[in-house]
Amino acid sequence: MTSKTRVVVIGAGLAGVTLARRLGELGTPALLVGEEEHRPYNRVLLAEVLAGRYSPEVIALPAPAGLLRGRVTGIDRAGRTVRCADGSVLAYDTLVLATGSNAVLPPLRGLFTPDRELPEGVHAFRTMDDCLGLSKAVRPGARAVVIGGGLLGVSAARALAVRGAQVVLAQQSERLMERQLDPAASALVRRHLEGLGVEVHTECRVRDVRGVGGAVRSVEMGDGYALGADLVVLACGVRPRVGLAREAGLEVGRGVLVDDELRTSDPHIRAVGDCAQHADRVYGLAAPALEQAGVLADLLTGDGTARYTGTRSLTRLTLTGPEGPFDGPDSPFDLAAFGETDPRPGDDVVQLADATRGTYRKVVVRDDRLVGGVLVGELGTVGALARAWEGAEPLPSDGGPLLHLLTQDGGS
Ligand SMILES: Cc1cc2nc3c(=O)[nH]c(=O)nc-3n(C[C@H](O)[C@H](O)[C@H](O)COP(=O)(O)OP(=O)(O)OC[C@H]3O[C@@H](n4cnc5c(N)ncnc54)[C@H](O)[C@@H]3O)c2cc1C
Repeated sequence: MTSKTRVVVIGAGLAGVTLARRLGELGTPALLVGEEEHRPYNRVLLAEVLAGRYSPEVIALPAPAGLLRGRVTGIDRAGRTVRCADGSVLAYDTLVLATGSNAVLPPLRGLFTPDRELPEGVHAFRTMDDCLGLSKAVRPGARAVVIGGGLLGVSAARALAVRGAQVVLAQQSERLMERQLDPAASALVRRHLEGLGVEVHTECRVRDVRGVGGAVRSVEMGDGYALGADLVVLACGVRPRVGLAREAGLEVGRGVLVDDELRTSDPHIRAVGDCAQHADRVYGLAAPALEQAGVLADLLTGDGTARYTGTRSLTRLTLTGPEGPFDGPDSPFDLAAFGETDPRPGDDVVQLADATRGTYRKVVVRDDRLVGGVLVGELGTVGALARAWEGAEPLPSDGGPLLHLLTQDGGS
């Protein structure tokens, strides 16, 4: 079957769905092809589903009209068509790659069964299927080992602990979430997890996954220590999904290379979201995916002036539980981080820490401009900081307003 569609978008994740909806609103309906069985959903909130706070329906995204379930398996650039796994062929004038990322599977001995499957009990944490699989397997008292202490590992460990599992978090580097947080904020995250009963091991490398009859039984550390495990979560980062682009001969670095108009090396093909590499950056975060989708929708509907020049918006990392008092097992635990959180010599830094409440706020200022910050536990000032950062306006130089920025919600 061949159908004629002007814009075809591959991938019904945050970027693809946002783009297709916006195009529909602007009168240029697109055909969106997504391989996941579930209704499109907000991936950022998967840990909330795992924690039992939200049902999958709650995190569903409003689906655009032209959604086709299927997997695209090849691109014919000369004929301007894509081929799907079921044999159908779709014609495009403009093709958009919004294929996202895949979970990185670490090189551990015993990670795969002889049929190249993950052993029973071993799960990645990227998709709704991963989340539902984990959710089904976890029960109070289950021994869970989370490998990786970045954003994904921390949210998975927290969610499993909220569900009553005995969780060990193994992080290879010396602190948690080191890409987003400074040492003081990392320490608070660690304290929060430990308060939920999670055992956190840093500078700890997992070497082996051991199983019996295709099911995981333990993991072995670099020093030979074996930890019993009923569940293992692989949270070792993500890698842009570039297979289709590479096979089609597009220029690919870590992601699919795009310019300020989100155009790949083929003028008829664009790329947005986690799979795209813009100005040497692959973001792997929701805000850039949404911004890129917005810019591309404008470009494809006739606003020739729209450009994507990089994301300055704040990365908000939400690790919340059901409503409750702060620092209880079911309490919210919010983080926001942006820009450079480690100061260079000569930068001004303002920090406010409240050990009792487990909150921490810090901003870094260079040449009267806000260049980064971290907020943990209390995000009352996040809006004011985001405006100051995104606007990149010089700050008044007497220092007073800085403190004001950190405290204008009335917090201490
Ligand atoms: C558990 C978790 C927590 C996160 N928390 C945060 C957070 O707090 N803050 C933040 O900023 N970011 C967070 N992220 C990252 C954020 O989810 C991603 O940056 C965002 O989803 C990227 O959107 P995307 O549309 O580019 O990719 P994706 O959401 O990955 O969507 C891509 C879609 O394309 C589909 N696809 C791929 N190839 C094909 C094909 N050939 N045919 C058909 N369909 C295809 C995939 O199945 C997928 O559904 C989190 C991610 C996870 C997994």
